[in-house]
Amino acid sequence: MDIRVGCGYDVHALAEGLRLVLCGVEVPHTKGCVAHSDGDVAIHAICDALLGALALGDIGKLFPDSDAKYKGIDSTLLLNEVVELIRSKGYSINNIDCTIAMQRPKLRPYIDTMRARLAEVMGIAVERVSIKATTTEHLGFEGREEGVSATAVVLLIEA
Ligand code: MG
Repeated sequence: MDIRVGCGYDVHALAEGLRLVLCGVEVPHTKGCVAHSDGDVAIHAICDALLGALALGDIGKLFPDSDAKYKGIDSTLLLNEVVELIRSKGYSINNIDCTIAMQRPKLRPYIDTMRARLAEVMGIAVERVSIKATTTEHLGFEGREEGVSATAVVLLIEA
């Protein structure tokens, strides 16, 4: 049995008046992510972790931001496509662990909704999806509320 680990990282700048979408869930805030897609930084990190586990490149290779069809796209559609690709290669997702770093707003009230949404999109049990949030104690670009970052680790098992 083959097991694979993958890690992903993504960053988006924040700007006033944009929607903030994290893990497929809209979070009420005055700022949102600047992006070609919906700017779901957490899903982008998870996609890169999944792709990385099987050395399939990265999200920018699969869904180039030069392609107009991805403009404003719901990132859950991208995640669904990546999961289908992983399954087509004969692997299943054992678990995912993702950390979102942003200073504000507090994400705790949305975490369980995010986990449920991701579990639904990926077709796995919610117990296998961990989403965590941290501030950076006002340090760095996240702390200055200029941007948001996300890291993700996944474990895949050969089905
Ligand atoms: Mg991104």
